[in-house]
Amino acid sequence: MPYRVPDLRYPYDALEPYIDEATMRLHHDKHHQAYVDKANAALEDTEWEGLRPKEVLTMLDELPDEIRATVRNNAGGQYNHCMLWRSMKPGGGGDPTGALAEAVDATFGSADDLRSQMKKAGIGQFGSGYAWLVHDGSRLAVVSTPNQDNPISDGMTPLLGVDVWEHAYYLKYQNKRPDYIDAFFQTVDWETVAERFAEV
Ligand code: MN
Repeated sequence: MPYRVPDLRYPYDALEPYIDEATMRLHHDKHHQAYVDKANAALEDTEWEGLRPKEVLTMLDELPDEIRATVRNNAGGQYNHCMLWRSMKPGGGGDPTGALAEAVDATFGSADDLRSQMKKAGIGQFGSGYAWLVHDGSRLAVVSTPNQDNPISDGMTPLLGVDVWEHAYYLKYQNKRPDYIDAFFQTVDWETVAERFAEV
């Protein structure tokens, strides 16, 4: 079954004032759709058609040279954006709770320290990409990736990613990526992040 862009679980303006409606419409309806269309075109009539993005992204080495980069970028775009929409919610923010909070405190010191590390990683990602909270197989960690790469391709489990492509923030924040990252954390759905952590 071809990939599709899932509907948002909240209105386009529900993340205001942190993430503005115009950015959400463009990001979800146009940018995400473009990744989906390109991924579907590349995978159509191949043996990988029908695999989920997370499956394809863990077997990029097996893809033929002609489609590997296109699939990496666009199945990555599909997976990353599906994760992103579900990582945010109206009334989000605050700190993680429960077992995730314990792991965050043990690894980083506090939720503030985690946010600080992710912000630093996001600011430090030259050009387009993401900063991630991951489980690396033994512990929580913060990493960054370029383009639409996902840590799952490196054997890690992504728990939360902040999209630092300019399309994610430029309409409202222009060049102020640090301010956008601060605002993003006001929308984070930590319950969803905790569910991902519980499945590690
Ligand atoms: Mn994006």
